[in-house]
Amino acid sequence: MIEKILIANRGEIALRVLRACKELGIKTVAVHSTADADLKHVLLADETVCIGPPASSESYLNMAALIAAAEVTDAEAIHPGYGFLSENADFAERVEESGFAFIGPRPETIRLMGDKVSAIKAMTAAGVPTVPGSGGPLGDNDKENFQIAQRIGYPVIIKAAGGGGGRGMRVVHTEAALLKSIQLTKTEAGSFFGNSEVYMEKFLENPRHVEIQVLSDGQGNAVHLGERDCSMQRRHQKVVEEAPAPGITEEQRERIGSACVKACIDINYRGAGTFEFLYENGEFYFIEMNTRLQVEHCVTEMVTGIDLVKAQIEIARGIPLAIKQEDVKLRGHAIECRVNAENPAKNFMPSPGKLERLHLPGGLGVRWDSHIYTGYSIPPHYDSMIGKLICHGSDRDTAIIKMSNALSEIVIQGIDTNIHLQREIMHDGGFAEGGQNIHYLEHRLEHLV
Ligand code: ADP
Repeated sequence: MIEKILIANRGEIALRVLRACKELGIKTVAVHSTADADLKHVLLADETVCIGPPASSESYLNMAALIAAAEVTDAEAIHPGYGFLSENADFAERVEESGFAFIGPRPETIRLMGDKVSAIKAMTAAGVPTVPGSGGPLGDNDKENFQIAQRIGYPVIIKAAGGGGGRGMRVVHTEAALLKSIQLTKTEAGSFFGNSEVYMEKFLENPRHVEIQVLSDGQGNAVHLGERDCSMQRRHQKVVEEAPAPGITEEQRERIGSACVKACIDINYRGAGTFEFLYENGEFYFIEMNTRLQVEHCVTEMVTGIDLVKAQIEIARGIPLAIKQEDVKLRGHAIECRVNAENPAKNFMPSPGKLERLHLPGGLGVRWDSHIYTGYSIPPHYDSMIGKLICHGSDRDTAIIKMSNALSEIVIQGIDTNIHLQREIMHDGGFAEGGQNIHYLEHRLEHLV
């Protein structure tokens, strides 16, 4: 039984986890840096521990401090949220070796999926469609590398096996540039990620980003909860997400969803997870798996009615998954807008500071997941996302109208936000059509900002 959980994160996701714990009657321990003593979830938690100075490297990424905090408070489990240490296999291992439950997959699964080459191999073996590519690390044989590229067809992309955060990738358009690009990416990968292994994939020119949410109990039971479309991106950062993905048929969903479920069972996956795909010309191509909760999990919750954080905790408690695939029904349409403290008109410059005045939206199907409150000061040390507005309607058009109205009700004074830009996106003709590719927003931004 897990009766006390330490939340190893901050901001809106820490509050999201705290709320789930409260619903389940679980006690909470909030940890925070010296810059974060007045975070909302810290004020609401049963116990709090200051784990270090503002710099993440000395607080939210400080494994020893987090484990010591769990020890002194007698917590039984650690929820890592997203970002920070959530996909760090060494952390998961240390948590478990110290006698706590890690609310996430087993360390070896995080390791398997954290290396993109081993992840792609595991997915291919399970029958999940991957991007045509080298299927393994590139060696030093130039002739062989030319042959691989020729078989795949240019343009190709060279990617670091240990890459993340959109770094360690290089697109190659011509044979003349191939060898140099492989060499450069290897060198970069070695210094960025401490692993110089690289692989090659077909470069898809105009894909959408469509991802599948799964829940798997590590005891042989797994379900998928449909897909999300996260193609509205700026610099590889998602800006708007929605579920279901426009234009995806029930048959397509079932086919790709079952492949993901099979993969979960094959690798004995434990917890909530996301299979990320690029989607082009009606085909799905696996690119990576996120072995944690995602920022955009809320749109899936709104269309399925399933609480993903509670499900994570129940899986960690060892309770077999109660949901059967036939119980998962998608209802209506949900959209999420990320609200950031930044100024789109000034090259998206972060805008930390004190919230002088705050009015928030509401109404049927309007959800606001955020830790901010009047008088709260957004510290400059962390991510600029200050909240997520999620709107659920009977269909996509209704969800868009609701979102537009809800955005227009928000008043935030004291800092700059991207709310105006989000409204423009809701009024954009291309967005209204649905199904735009991952480059669409960057192109439109030239006119919207
Ligand atoms: P990371 O872990 O760094 O996020 P991903 O493998 O998820 O790396 O790729 C990040 C982004 O790079 C993708 O969302 C997509 O925009 C682009 N990308 C990756 N692989 C390809 C590919 N084969 N073709 C086209 N774009 C790609």
